[in-house]
Amino acid sequence: MCSVGDVTGIDMETLAPDEYECMDCHKKFRGIGKHVTCPSCKSSNVKLL
Ligand SMILES: [Zn+2]
Repeated sequence: MCSVGDVTGIDMETLAPDEYECMDCHKKFRGIGKHVTCPSCKSSNVKLL
């Protein structure tokens, strides 16, 4: 149980990203958290899909 570098056993519940769409530039991206900002234009005007 001491394997290092094994990334196949990731906990899906903590790392499942939600998909958002930016209302300003309409880019779709994945983000985690309550204050997600668009990676393209940095807008916080995003919609959860
Ligand atoms: Zn944007």
